[in-house]
Amino acid sequence: MASGRSLRVLHLYPELLNLYGDSGNILVLRKRMEWRGLACDVREVHMGERATLAGTDLVFIGGGSDREQRIVCDELLAQRRELASFVEDGGVLLAVCGGYQLLGHSYLMGEEKVRGLSLVDLYTDRGSPRLIGNVVVESRIAPQPIVGYENHGGRTHLGKGVESLGRVLRGHGNDGLSGEEGCLYRNVVGTYVHGPLLPKNPGVADWLIARALERRYGTGELEPLDDADELAANETMRARLLGTSRFGRH
Ligand code: GLN
Repeated sequence: MASGRSLRVLHLYPELLNLYGDSGNILVLRKRMEWRGLACDVREVHMGERATLAGTDLVFIGGGSDREQRIVCDELLAQRRELASFVEDGGVLLAVCGGYQLLGHSYLMGEEKVRGLSLVDLYTDRGSPRLIGNVVVESRIAPQPIVGYENHGGRTHLGKGVESLGRVLRGHGNDGLSGEEGCLYRNVVGTYVHGPLLPKNPGVADWLIARALERRYGTGELEPLDDADELAANETMRARLLGTSRFGRH
């Protein structure tokens, strides 16, 4: 049923920041909007172009290798002011892994300390070994624990008062020590979770869509969808990783 409402999604530098299928997050956002009769206008921003944030509801930045991060970094820094205003105005932003690291004040790449966007009070240094594997995170923004995959050399440290996306039930998260994963700041979600993130975590997708609708139309109420397949995938991964299932422990 068409509602006449629509949201604009800006996908930043998909040619460079798309590790482990991160661009799949865009497909999920589009489908979950369309299934509810909401139009979804996705615009890609490529190297050499500037993001038009006026009229944008949701920004997505995927993950990338150090080399790719280094390339997009200057491009993003040139748009820092516009991105900061968008975030402070309640704009919705999802950033994964390399993209998440660039939200902070700095990212240590080898010996080089690369300046970040300072959109969120956090910074990333490095550690060894890389933190690799499947991850399960309990978050207040999703009814089911978030499942996915992480692979990063960076260790992210949140500033005092910055909320994490959630608590690590399995895996490493921000730094392998704190038990925290990702960040939540205003309507910004930063996370190390690839996979891509949204197909098996429909609650996160709906949280992002709801925040964007709230900002544009004053109400974020969402028609429920039949998520049987998505939830079965989430449940299967959780059972595998936590050793539990709805049929009991095994
Ligand atoms: N290059 C970053 C790191 O290794 C991020 C990698 C990623 O996006 N998976 O920490």
